[in-house]
Amino acid sequence: MANCFFHGEREAVARCAVCGRSVCEECVKREGSCNFCSTECQTKAAAMTGRSDQVLAEKKKTNSTTMVRKLIYIFVLIAAIAAAYHFYANNKKAVDKKVNSSVTSLREGTSKVIKDTKKAIPTSSQMKRQKESLVK
Ligand SMILES: [Zn+2]
Ligand SMILES: [Zn+2]
Repeated sequence: MANCFFHGEREAVARCAVCGRSVCEECVKREGSCNFCSTECQTKAAAMTGRSDQVLAEKKKTNSTTMVRKLIYIFVLIAAIAAAYHFYANNKKAVDKKVNSSVTSLREGTSKVIKDTKKAIPTSSQMKRQKESLVK
């Protein structure tokens, strides 16, 4: 192997992944399985790989987020239906009673209103009689 780019007398132990310079043990910047001659090259490489990694990660994140959101939505929907059904099954009598009573009270209320309305509006015969009395 060639000598270090910075120290001509020293034997190089690695080659820069960015510019290809040979560097000695003291100069080499190791990052994972990559070797760099300087922090400048290291930063350059980080900027290049980092950007693509970030893009990939973001894409992955978006996909998984959408998936998770969909799954949560489906789960919530199922849970809501299950809960509603469970509640109804458990309180069937109570619910039915409540529904029935509300229907009955509604019916009673309606018939009362109709009765009151009928009372308030004089029948045609009454009106006729009143008119006749006025004429007389
Ligand atoms: Zn380099
Ligand atoms: Zn060196």
